[in-house]
This record gives sequence, structure tokens and C-alpha cells, in this order.
Amino acid sequence: MSPPYGSRLANKVAVITGAGSGIGLESSVLFASEGAQVVCADINDKAAAATVEKITSLFGKGRAVSIRADVSNEEDVKKMIQLAVSEFGKLSIVFNNAGIMHPADDNALTTSEDIWDLTMKINVKGVWWGCKYAIEEMRKTGGGSIINTASFVALRGAATPQLAYTASKGAVLAMTRELAVVHAKENIRFNSLCPGPLRTPLLMEFLNTDDKKNRRLVHVPMGRFGEAIEQAKAALFLASDESSYMTGTDMAVDGGLCAAY
Ligand code: NAD
Repeated sequence: MSPPYGSRLANKVAVITGAGSGIGLESSVLFASEGAQVVCADINDKAAAATVEKITSLFGKGRAVSIRADVSNEEDVKKMIQLAVSEFGKLSIVFNNAGIMHPADDNALTTSEDIWDLTMKINVKGVWWGCKYAIEEMRKTGGGSIINTASFVALRGAATPQLAYTASKGAVLAMTRELAVVHAKENIRFNSLCPGPLRTPLLMEFLNTDDKKNRRLVHVPMGRFGEAIEQAKAALFLASDESSYMTGTDMAVDGGLCAAY
């Protein structure tokens, strides 16, 4: 097996959802490069398998496995967590990162109950299932680190209407804080990652005109979209023991957006 590039996650086993694209893909590769063994989960099984192929080509066999998991399906999430244990022997890190932003007009007057329910099912219930099964497993080994992907829209009002999405990410923040407090003494840490606007398929499909993109960038002091790898680096810090005294935080990685007025 080729040695990984670093050892910040040596002897750790991570599960990452949404591992087939964007933040999840970059985090899977980065975590593996720092010594973690990674379960790459995605509703798109081909994309998850491609992430594993990439990890294997870079670092050799035995560093990653893929699974098709819809995070809004409890059984899928249970299997995804069990795979970490059956394949790699334990569970140290869960990055509940998968999420959707419905491309339809999603303001209070135009959004539909279907969009609302689907968004909540994946973005909120999916994080709950991920936390629930992770807690059960991490208790057995004395703790772990759980990172939940929220968004800057949970911290500031978004200028482009996306009401169901915003509400779902607010719920992720609130849930993460409560879990952090409740499980702090068990050494299970929970932190939220709050990305700013990124150049990933999720946002680029939503902001599908130059006008929409420019309107979003007006609010970003750095004047550019973020890259998925910039989120992965923050997630790596939260996943590693370097953040051992951090729990219940909302880490904004947003080009200065939340600092601006
Ligand atoms: P992306 O579209 O590049 O990747 C999302 C991945 O999640 C895809 O591979 C997709 O197949 C997978 N996925 C979707 N539904 C799923 C489900 N039900 N079960 C399992 N996997 C599923 O998007 P991204 O930008 O990397 O987004 C990752 C997270 O970051 C999301 O939670 C998103 O809300 C959040 N976020 C993104 C931005 C942004 O600007 N892109 C900003 C703030 C927060």
C-alpha cells in the first residue's frame, strides 16, 4: 500500500455522505491522504465508486469502500455505518454532508409542499439518521467526531429565495448544537460546517444565469465562489484531534460573507 501524504487522521475510520461530488468527493480524498480509511456513501453509486477508484489509484488498495446510500432512508444509513465497522473495524468520524438544493422557485409563496418535504427529508432527517447511528457506534469506542454540513444561509438571510433549503440548514445548526451539548461528556464531538457559495454542481445548477451568479457574489467580500477543497480542509480540521476542544461550533468557510453587511 502506498503511504498516505500525512497522518492527521491516522488510525481513524470515516464515513462521508455525498462522497460522489463536490465537498464530499474532495473530503474523501483528503481524509484518505491523511491516513483515514473512508466509507464513501452517495445516492449515486457510480459517483461514489469513482471516488474510491481515485483514492485507490492515489494511495493503494484498502483505504476506501463505496456504498449506495440515500441518507433519507434509515436502513441505508444503518448499513452505511455498519460497513465502516465490518470493513475497517470501528467508526471514528462521520461527515453528514449530503444535501440538496431544489432548483425550483422556492420562496414562501411559490414553494410547494413536495419541495419542502423532500428538502427536509434529505437535509434534516438524513443528518439525524447519520448522527443517531454514529452515536451508537462511537459510544463503543469512547468517542468520535461528527461534522454536519449546514450553510451560510443558516447564519444570514439569503438574497436569492430558497426558503425550504434555508429552513433545513437552520435545523442542521440547531440539531448539531443540541447533540454537541448532550453528548459532550461521551467525547462525541459535533460541529457544523457552514460553507459560503461554492463552485460545485449543487449551486451552479441553482444560479444558472450570469445575473444570478453576480448577484450572489456581490455579498462575498473575496469576490469569488469557494472551492470544494477549501471546505474539505476545514472538515479535516474538525474531524481530526486538532479540534479536540471544539464542539457545538458553526464553522463558516465563506470568503468573508458572514462578516460583511
Ligand atoms: P454536490 O452537488 O457537488 O454534491 C452533493 C452530493 O450529494 C452528490 O454526489 C449527490 O449525489 C449526493 N446526494 C444528494 N442527495 C443524496 C441523498 N439523498 N443521499 C446521499 N447522497 C445524496 O454539492 P456540494 O456543493 O458538494 O454540497 C454538499 C453539501 O454542502 C450539501 O449539504 C449542501 O447543501 C452544502 N452546501 C453547499 C453550498 C454550495 O454553494 N455548493 C453552500 C453551502 C452548503
